[in-house]
Amino acid sequence: MFTENTDVIVIGGGLVGLSTAMHLQAMRPRLAIMLIEKDDQLAAQQSGHNSGVIHAGIYYEPGSLKARFCVEGHRALVEFCIQHGIPVVKCGKVIVANTDEEIDRLEQLHERGVDNGVPGLRIIEQRELREFEPNVTGARALYAPHSAVVDYRKIAAAYAGIFQAAGGSIELGTELLSAQRVRGQSRVETTAGVVEARLIINCAGLHSDVVAKRTGTKPGLRIIPFRGEYFELRSDSRHLVNGLVYPVPNVNLPFLDVHLTPTVDGSVEAGPNAVLAGKREGYRWRDFAFGDMAATLSYGGFWWLVGRYWKQGLAEINRSLRKSVFVASVQRLVPEITADDLVPGHSGVRAQAVDGRGRLIDDFRIEESPAAIHVLNAPSPAATSSLMIGKFVAEKANLRFHGAGR
Ligand SMILES: Cc1cc2nc3c(=O)[nH]c(=O)nc-3n(C[C@H](O)[C@H](O)[C@H](O)COP(=O)(O)OP(=O)(O)OC[C@H]3O[C@@H](n4cnc5c(N)ncnc54)[C@H](O)[C@@H]3O)c2cc1C
Repeated sequence: MFTENTDVIVIGGGLVGLSTAMHLQAMRPRLAIMLIEKDDQLAAQQSGHNSGVIHAGIYYEPGSLKARFCVEGHRALVEFCIQHGIPVVKCGKVIVANTDEEIDRLEQLHERGVDNGVPGLRIIEQRELREFEPNVTGARALYAPHSAVVDYRKIAAAYAGIFQAAGGSIELGTELLSAQRVRGQSRVETTAGVVEARLIINCAGLHSDVVAKRTGTKPGLRIIPFRGEYFELRSDSRHLVNGLVYPVPNVNLPFLDVHLTPTVDGSVEAGPNAVLAGKREGYRWRDFAFGDMAATLSYGGFWWLVGRYWKQGLAEINRSLRKSVFVASVQRLVPEITADDLVPGHSGVRAQAVDGRGRLIDDFRIEESPAAIHVLNAPSPAATSSLMIGKFVAEKANLRFHGAGR
């Protein structure tokens, strides 16, 4: 147990918390910053269970934080990886369309990507698609040459190293339990002791709403966990895919549908789907927490969500339980891939913020209270955007210490 004083306590050792801590420590070297992480390792949740894609910035509403931070974040992250010797594979990406309706949506996506400033983006015809991806079916495709893949755990470790080298401290296995504001300071109770802090920064991912409440803020949203399950291509089938291969997404849904993703270590993943998880960190069907489920089921917004998306929800459950349905999704992209080519892979759980009317909150959401700055919604592409989100939050925190002599 410890009792400590610090200027800033950052909650969460994922990419967003680590990047925020790293940027703030660089802006104010004399500030005492402590990052706490409830798990016994960094990046153990979303940041270490994602698809590893450095997104180009095509999908997001022009002018949104997602659009800005993804396009700028892509450039900054690739540069960061080069500087720190982290391997990046620039494999490029195709989004493939087959029907007239998909081609219309593909053209809209193209315009959106151009508006967002994505470099090199262009529509290609079937003949050129075949040159990049001989086994992919598509009448037309949107080609993003700069999309890349990386191991985000390596990036998290690099952020942590820079933060600690600049004087920051990281406490693993330390969970924030509650915080009370007393005379301009927060008394933060953790599983390892009490920390007196001038500012709390909430980067708790799947628990961002819980941490907001524990620190006295009503978040106005609820995190609903959606598990994404992957299969992996057997090594002798990997040659069927060269780069990232995606279908045209349903614009009304936040997830990008099952796609094919080469990884930096040379394997190829298919997925993820999107099924309601039985707990916030429910990586398998059998992971279930009564408290998490009761919280989801008692939330009015969840039932609005069910009312709106029940068909898609049932289809996702079907696809999760029946491999043949998953395989059919993959075959829409590469018909040659069969069930025998796919073996079960890892899974991840996405933190999807939902408001009281069941609307999926799309953009990154960062809010402030006197005691804290809360990153309430940082779904994909937050890994790609992590340098920009961290800088943005650190700038807000920096203002709080203006004239404070630190
Ligand atoms: C399946 C999947 C695929 C994805 N693919 C991509 C992709 O290809 N490209 C991309 O850009 N993005 C992708 N994303 C999104 C991206 O991974 C996340 O948006 C990003 O990692 C969020 O980082 P974070 O730091 O906010 O959250 P997290 O990584 O979840 O970190 C939050 C941390 O807070 C800790 N914590 C929570 N509560 C407490 C507490 N009370 N006390 C102390 N610590 C606490 C948690 O243990 C956790 O380590 C994907 C996500 C998933 C799940």
